[in-house]
Amino acid sequence: MKAAPFAYVRPGSLDDVLAELAGGDGKVLAGGQSLVPVLAMRLGRPATLVDIGSVASLGDLAVTDEVLRVGATVRQRRLERSAEAAAVPLIGMAMPFVGHRELRSRGTVCGSLAHADPAAELPAVAACLEATIEVAGPDGRRRVPAGAFFVGAMTTGASAQEVVTAVEFPVARPGEGHGFGEIARRHGDFALAGVVTRVRVGDDGAVLDARLTGFGVSDTPVTRDVTSIVDDGDALADLAREVVDTGGDSHGSTGYRRRLFRVLAARELARALRAARKERT
Ligand SMILES: Cc1cc2nc3c(=O)[nH]c(=O)nc-3n(C[C@H](O)[C@H](O)[C@H](O)COP(=O)(O)OP(=O)(O)OC[C@H]3O[C@@H](n4cnc5c(N)ncnc54)[C@H](O)[C@@H]3O)c2cc1C
Repeated sequence: MKAAPFAYVRPGSLDDVLAELAGGDGKVLAGGQSLVPVLAMRLGRPATLVDIGSVASLGDLAVTDEVLRVGATVRQRRLERSAEAAAVPLIGMAMPFVGHRELRSRGTVCGSLAHADPAAELPAVAACLEATIEVAGPDGRRRVPAGAFFVGAMTTGASAQEVVTAVEFPVARPGEGHGFGEIARRHGDFALAGVVTRVRVGDDGAVLDARLTGFGVSDTPVTRDVTSIVDDGDALADLAREVVDTGGDSHGSTGYRRRLFRVLAARELARALRAARKERT
């Protein structure tokens, strides 16, 4: 199929982007890796595509002692190859699983967050790390915790008049370790099930806190505090029954996805714990 007719604009400033979106029938175009297929399949028929690629102020990629800031036009491959990404180890662990290299050289980090595919890797990383998503709209800018940003499958808390301007990932703290794992039918496919973990230990190696985010298992990334059950296989099996609520499909039943989640959760929590204790030594 071919896309329905649409207008195309490429504003040079954020104010002009917001003016174009004000009517509510425009769509932001970032890397186009998800939007263009959506248009071609006529799953969406926006009146205007608002290409943000020429807005220089949306291109920041910078790290401080606290956060890694990634602007809306930063492509996934640029972040993956950057020195700054080392401050957030989960970026390097997850990025090779985001589609294929060719897609990542066009797709943006913020575009993946805004698209909010439940099986996407970067929304899960953002949720696990408690990243902050910055949104600009007609009423100014607001900062949304990633945990509150993803409200449903392909649905975020940003309105049609708003644009995601940046995401800020907290940099890894001393005593922190991470895990990432997913099962897909082929490398580069969306995950049948995946988990992202973050564990922090004290000087004595005892677990201070642990978080786990599942993806591909529900309508949004699902995050739980797992501090008390890091190495409790029975409790992780109970957790799998609680959080994996996606219906079965031709790629795998709900029961199969629960088994994947349980195995991945145990493996990636153990990996994060090992890394955290090594970081302390
Ligand atoms: C074959 C194939 C395999 C893929 N595999 C994976 C995979 O395994 N894992 C994965 O995570 N992704 C995968 N993707 C998706 C890909 O990573 C996209 O790059 C990403 O989902 C969207 O980024 P984009 O910059 O291309 O956004 P676009 O396609 O330009 O936009 C996607 C949506 O987000 C909105 N949007 C984009 N940027 C903003 C913004 N700044 N503010 C507000 N709204 C915005 C658009 O309006 C649109 O609705 C795959 C895509 C293809 C075609």
